[in-house]
Amino acid sequence: MTELLTFVTTDYAGITRGRSIPAASFTPGRPKSVGWVPANMSLTPFDQIADHNPWGSSGDLRLLGDEAARYRVTLPGAATPTDMMMSDIVELDGTPWPLCPRTFLRTALDELKSLTGLTLQVSFEHEFQLFGTGWAQAPAFSLRALRQADPFGPDLMAALDALGMKPEVFIAEYGRDQFEVTMAPTEGVTAADRAVVLREVTRELASLRGWQASFAPKTAVEGVGNGVHIHFSFADAKGTNATFDPTRPGRVSATAGAFAAGVIRHLPALVAFTAPSPISYLRLKPHNWSSSYTWFGDRDREASLRICPVTTVGGADPARAYNLEYRAADACACPHLALAVIVRAGIEGLKRRLPDPPLFSGDPELLPPAERAALGLERLPLSLEAALERFLGDPVAMGWFTPLASETYVGMKRTEIALAGHAIDDDLCRRYAGIY
Ligand code: GLU
Ligand code: MG
Repeated sequence: MTELLTFVTTDYAGITRGRSIPAASFTPGRPKSVGWVPANMSLTPFDQIADHNPWGSSGDLRLLGDEAARYRVTLPGAATPTDMMMSDIVELDGTPWPLCPRTFLRTALDELKSLTGLTLQVSFEHEFQLFGTGWAQAPAFSLRALRQADPFGPDLMAALDALGMKPEVFIAEYGRDQFEVTMAPTEGVTAADRAVVLREVTRELASLRGWQASFAPKTAVEGVGNGVHIHFSFADAKGTNATFDPTRPGRVSATAGAFAAGVIRHLPALVAFTAPSPISYLRLKPHNWSSSYTWFGDRDREASLRICPVTTVGGADPARAYNLEYRAADACACPHLALAVIVRAGIEGLKRRLPDPPLFSGDPELLPPAERAALGLERLPLSLEAALERFLGDPVAMGWFTPLASETYVGMKRTEIALAGHAIDDDLCRRYAGIY
């Protein structure tokens, strides 16, 4: 058997695609690329290229492997190792392709660094469900739910560990056969790469057992939501957490407060990228512990941007673990693109020196509209089309993209909406569950 190494990119549809070469033909230290096609970026999750796409049948690109981001592991029961190398999409002469989500993220993080001197430490927290296990219903969060999954949890954690992804916690979540896995924070591009690997490895581990793992935001209309919560904090040159300032409200530093203000301001446009499927909007509803308003909250799981709790147990330093969590994301989003738009929005807040958004706790639904508005609490878009319209109507957010990039993204998403059809129902959730 010839072991294969796959050069991968995770595209606007949040799907990891690529091409393989014999692993033995790769020479460490020598740049290597494989062919790619621009119109691939207009592929919908339903495997149909958007009718409206600026690419057509012409043009050629390369997937240029990043050797430092090679993820290789042999999963129990697999015939060959899973071996993927994160790649940047480049032109034939190696210049970056402006639509490459990984390059787009790196550029945003570089700008944050040159503006503030800070690097972003990021961790993607994922929820997913297993189907086809034949397990009896076990109580939410229970030991029984964890034990009946054995050795899926240990195998997953071992794979993540072998991949150097620093797994932290494996959780039986609230929903039936729903789990969550967390990893230690790391530099932003690496964190997004790890989110890709985590999804692929989890799905493969499940399918090797004849099950299906799904990260889709909803697998049934009335079912539990699967969120992707993006945790981030700022580190200065010495590695000190620059997110924390015990003297300020919520203990959020001035830098992190301005960044948060940019995110909250652009949130209705951001969700077009972070919650990017028609069924994502089944999840972004009040009382789902997901997010539904332009809401900055201190330790409130309904907030869209949440100040996370920190513990002082065992003398732990609260300044170390303090971080913010963006909750309005799901796994239909490309992790690189989702993080990039969050960073871009945060940079706007920093450049404009926006004041911290008000910290709200309670139920926005119970407030009179005028009071809600005074607190800056705006209901997030109710559909993907509404979110796309907010993006198109936000000149600042539009300015983060080249015209070709925004045209490609919106054209692809509008075709996805058309292909999904009018009924946002259990059937549609099942289709997405099969894809994500
Ligand atoms: N499942 C929830 C979501 O859709 C999150 C629940 C939690 O706080 O872990 O985001
Ligand atoms: Mg959770």
